[in-house]
Amino acid sequence: MNGCLLCEKPLDDQPTWQQFLGISKSSPVCPPCLALFERIDSTVEDEWVDSIHSLYAYNEQAREFLHQFKFLQDIALAQVFASDLRNVLKNSKKIIVPIPMHPANKAKRTFAQVDALLDAAGIPYEQLLHKTTESVMGEKTRAERLAMTELFEVKADIPSNEAIYVLVDDIYTTGTTLRHAARTLKQAGAVRVEAVTLFRPTGKK
Ligand SMILES: [Zn+2]
Repeated sequence: MNGCLLCEKPLDDQPTWQQFLGISKSSPVCPPCLALFERIDSTVEDEWVDSIHSLYAYNEQAREFLHQFKFLQDIALAQVFASDLRNVLKNSKKIIVPIPMHPANKAKRTFAQVDALLDAAGIPYEQLLHKTTESVMGEKTRAERLAMTELFEVKADIPSNEAIYVLVDDIYTTGTTLRHAARTLKQAGAVRVEAVTLFRPTGKK
């Protein structure tokens, strides 16, 4: 019997009717652990991003999840949010663009988390962006972040300026990453750029 990936308690292996019909895979996380994620569906606009939709609050459970997913490299956790991401991103008219990791981070971690989330959800995406800087956002002051010129460059031609581009990232905090990514896409010809993130801190700014 498998254990929950977050609390390690045994998972109930009883197949559900959805599994019989092939609709969904069983979650790798137990229902009590899932219940600790707080759905917020917060949507805001930013200077360069036409809409930023964050699915869940960045609470203690979210912190725990991201830590295990990113730093302990538990790729099976990508399955936890697969159906949520499918529900918000399934739209053939939109072009999904994952926020890339910078190469320095990629060397430390064995997989790109955002790509893994999209793969688990079965969402096709285009890696249009390439990271140009090696620096880590959290180590910079706000002034330094704003002063930086470009964080990304466009890797490939923008397929269509009429399409809606949707950036995907794990967390929306200062918005600097999404703002830079959206600006890069718009400067390359994209007209509308939206974003979807799993988490967003709530309460204090
Ligand atoms: Zn659990």
